[in-house]
Amino acid sequence: MSIVNVKLQARPASPPAAIAGRPALQKRFRTEFGHESGLYRAPGRANLIGEHTDYNDGFVLPAALELSTWVAAAPRKDRILRFKSLLGGDALEFNLDDPAPSPRHDWSDYVRGVAVKLQVAGFPLEGADMLIDSDVPIGSGLSSSAALEVSVGFALLDILGVAVDRVTLAQACQRAENEFVGMHCGIMDQFISCLGAAGHALLLDCRSLAYRQVAIAPSVRLVVCNSMVHHKLASGEYNKRRADCEHGVALLTPLLPGIRALRDVTLAQLVAHQAALPEVTFRRCRHVVTEDERVLKGVAALEAGDVAEFGRLVNASHRSLRDDYQVSCRELDILAELAWGMEGVLGSRMMGGGFGGCTLSIVRTEAVKRFTSDMAKGYTAATNLTPEIFVCSPGDGVSVVAPSESAA
Ligand code: ADP
Ligand code: MG
Repeated sequence: MSIVNVKLQARPASPPAAIAGRPALQKRFRTEFGHESGLYRAPGRANLIGEHTDYNDGFVLPAALELSTWVAAAPRKDRILRFKSLLGGDALEFNLDDPAPSPRHDWSDYVRGVAVKLQVAGFPLEGADMLIDSDVPIGSGLSSSAALEVSVGFALLDILGVAVDRVTLAQACQRAENEFVGMHCGIMDQFISCLGAAGHALLLDCRSLAYRQVAIAPSVRLVVCNSMVHHKLASGEYNKRRADCEHGVALLTPLLPGIRALRDVTLAQLVAHQAALPEVTFRRCRHVVTEDERVLKGVAALEAGDVAEFGRLVNASHRSLRDDYQVSCRELDILAELAWGMEGVLGSRMMGGGFGGCTLSIVRTEAVKRFTSDMAKGYTAATNLTPEIFVCSPGDGVSVVAPSESAA
């Protein structure tokens, strides 16, 4: 590939390629820890549609990506977790019997938090050595954090010899991120990293955690374009949007008794009560209510084989996030608008919290090469920035690539 910074996702989803695993990581483990290891992997994710709906009890449609975090792991005879990331830093230790584990406010909190929350959930973990590597870009909205939590949690449970209930694992990992790391994310990222299936996205009801796999046509690719910007607004504005949604529900509750979240409000109801809401609150609510509808319509379109209609809904999602929810930014709009003008692009939208990070484009396979090349040129011409582009397909959720010795 001649374009600088364009990363093609080389590994296909098929099991043989995944099983080929990471011999270099396991070799490095041998050097680092002096014994053999098992190998585990958990994916990052893209959310196809359903943005800012999770904390409104709504619907999301994520897909696991083949981009994964890898953990070479082996049991120890004591009660220590000793772990190191190839992204940098020395090996760190955590005593599983620490009576009052407290966060260190660095990356190791994701690992410690998962161990703490699995023990709270009733799994009497054993000590382990772990060496961690990742091809999920860090901090770009593809959920390297959930991939790290889930891969570590899965490895620890496999070493314990416990058959993993994937929903339980996802919940423990979310608790680790909420209560130990201190990041108040929803459950989507951990859920899809646990339950993703190759060739499928997953419709998740964030209220009931009911879910269903939705096939994605093999004729399209999920192309993630990283804008390479992170505007500082992001976390403050995220909290404001959450507050706007809660305010909307509070104002609507006397008019629509029984609603608990925007998930319970239809567009017709919202419009009927528009006068009861301040203008901005109304627009925030309209995004959430219409986005929930778009997720369900999108699933219906995919299940009917109408990928073009799905793409139109993805485009409408971007416009709603830009105009009603107001969480886009110039760079994300440029990426989406460039994609909308390209041949073979079914849909494109900003993904994640907003104010930077990535867009997701649904691109016909035969148009992908042209897309990556034109996108890199077009975005650089407009912004002077070089985008990172990842061409992905929906992959499997967390898996054992090679079991560790005691669990085999
Ligand atoms: P995202 O989940 O979108 O990638 P987050 O900010 O939620 O972004 O999570 C990124 C953080 O997760 C990193 O700053 C780091 O602390 C931690 N992390 C993720 N993957 C790894 C890894 N392989 N090694 C060490 N830390 C990691
Ligand atoms: Mg994250």
